[in-house]
Amino acid sequence: MNALILQPKGHVYNFSAGPAPLPRAVLEQAKDELLNWNQLHASVMEVSHRGKAFIRLAEESEQDLRDLLVIPENYRVLFLQGGARGQFAAVPLNIKGDKTSADYVNSGHWSQSAIKEGQRYLNARVVADGKASGFTTMPDQREWRLSSDAAYLHYTPNETIGGLAFPFIPDSAGVPLVADMSSTLLSEPLDVSRFGVIYAGAQKNIGCAGVTLVIVRDELLDKSSPFCPAILDYKLQADKGSMYNTPPTFGWYIASLVFKWLKSQGGLKAMAAVNKRKAQKLYGMIDKSGFYQNTINTAWRSKMNVPFTLADTSLESRFLAEAEQAGFLYLKGHRAVGGMRASIYNAIPEQQVYALVNFMGEFERRYG
Ligand SMILES: *Cc1c(COP(=O)(O)O)cnc(C)c1O
Repeated sequence: MNALILQPKGHVYNFSAGPAPLPRAVLEQAKDELLNWNQLHASVMEVSHRGKAFIRLAEESEQDLRDLLVIPENYRVLFLQGGARGQFAAVPLNIKGDKTSADYVNSGHWSQSAIKEGQRYLNARVVADGKASGFTTMPDQREWRLSSDAAYLHYTPNETIGGLAFPFIPDSAGVPLVADMSSTLLSEPLDVSRFGVIYAGAQKNIGCAGVTLVIVRDELLDKSSPFCPAILDYKLQADKGSMYNTPPTFGWYIASLVFKWLKSQGGLKAMAAVNKRKAQKLYGMIDKSGFYQNTINTAWRSKMNVPFTLADTSLESRFLAEAEQAGFLYLKGHRAVGGMRASIYNAIPEQQVYALVNFMGEFERRYG
């Protein structure tokens, strides 16, 4: 690609789906204290996770996360490794107990990956499937075929690739509800008490790649399989403060800065309000004429990942090239679906979304 024609103030705007942008203030702070963290004359990457300073970071970051999400007392918070895909295995290995099956909702790419991995450890039954609609909506909850002897019900609240998000928390009819919140945790307030396990890789909306958040209800801690690897074992890691093995210290540190930043922004209610305005603005542009399209049922549209296509698909490579020239980066859709996708996580300022919408309007005027 040619040299970029930068935005007026020299900024480029990053709409990457993940790893995704971090708040500018977080990167600035990490830069400022990179060589000398906490007066230790070493970077946070170069000191013991068992030292006073890192233990304080660990405790404070957990408290900040608990404050942000209002996590009840009877939940443990773990900072693990292995990503969301690691949790696709960790969930059955930890909470299967003596059950032989679990219920899974198939809402697209990431739920399918979770089902495939879960299938290695138990009978992963698909109880609701969005496939027939091309994952543009999901069957009514009354049609889900939940089983009362399932070990858990697993779903993906926000499908990062397809751009479908659940507008409600499903009723799991008494079995523990498990959610892959990799691309939506911390984007809005959440009733944690509805869940047995919440997990999320950090690189979308929490921090940088390398740390995986797990929030698990106490009563699920003593059901792990003897074959569960120790590093994935919720109870072992909970007992050890997520330090059974060396934790991903740098990723944990970045997440701790993001939690402080979220608090400084007014917490998750404030983030939700901004995120709602950003999504409305972008979908408003897409829906305004037939030039752009997003086919997800409006009630099921993601506020974090907005896929769109051009009615005239032959214009798409031109759109992407001109967007990049104008400083709007990483808008190319996932290779599995093509088209375009704008990911607009917490760290994307409202004004950047408005700038993108202006660019899209301008592009339409020229080529529509
Ligand atoms: C990105 C993503 C994953 C994969 O996460 P890894 O950390 O790469 O394992 C899984 N689920 C969802 C919803 C995602 O957005």
